[in-house]
Amino acid sequence: MIACACPVCTSTNKKDNRLRSSILVQSANTTLVVDSTPDFRYQMLRAKVKRLDAIIFTHPHKDHIAGLDDVRAYNFFTRRPMEIFANEMTQEVIIREFPYAFADTKYPGVPEIRLNTIAFDEFIVGDIPIQPILVWHMKMPVLGFRFGDFTYITDANRIDEAEKQKIRGSKVVVLNALRKESHISHFTLDEAVAIVKELQVPQAYFTHISHQLGKHEDINNELPPGIELAYDGLFLTI
Ligand SMILES: [Zn+2]
Ligand SMILES: [Zn+2]
Repeated sequence: MIACACPVCTSTNKKDNRLRSSILVQSANTTLVVDSTPDFRYQMLRAKVKRLDAIIFTHPHKDHIAGLDDVRAYNFFTRRPMEIFANEMTQEVIIREFPYAFADTKYPGVPEIRLNTIAFDEFIVGDIPIQPILVWHMKMPVLGFRFGDFTYITDANRIDEAEKQKIRGSKVVVLNALRKESHISHFTLDEAVAIVKELQVPQAYFTHISHQLGKHEDINNELPPGIELAYDGLFLTI
């Protein structure tokens, strides 16, 4: 956190040093990213992502969309618009926040974006089938996504029973766990642990972690088997 001198923010363990929450999903012929955070540009540079076919969005909060302008680099090399998959609520905000990308007469060099509307039905990006999962972020509906045996959920504090059914059977789940103290729109560490146990997913990683949670190593040691904190650069083969 900017200007913070807490033990997490001043830690020398790289796993305590986090950018905003996002994942990259790659198959044999398709590469996509979930959300374009304010750190999107640096995340793509850091992971040396040479090719990106699409961005799919969970919800329109600024920490999940703000980096969208930087798809310009991919536009430049591919000479194609970036494929964006988002529900109507998120599209409305994207159009409002990046109006210059949707203007009738565009200034040269603005990001080129093609909007694809998703709802709750399965959709396919390249060769990757994706099942949206509705989760609640206080009153905001947010989309989690299931990719085969892997499920990614961020920015939730409640999941309806019917949607839990869509997560069951996953081999790996990524779930948000903000901190130990309760929060109005994010799962706490204990709440996230309880969901993983209830759904009996054998391996879970927690994301969207606040510096208030505590140091990576300390918290990781408190977690039950099969549950770990995620960290920047974590790479999983499913
Ligand atoms: Zn949010
Ligand atoms: Zn967020």
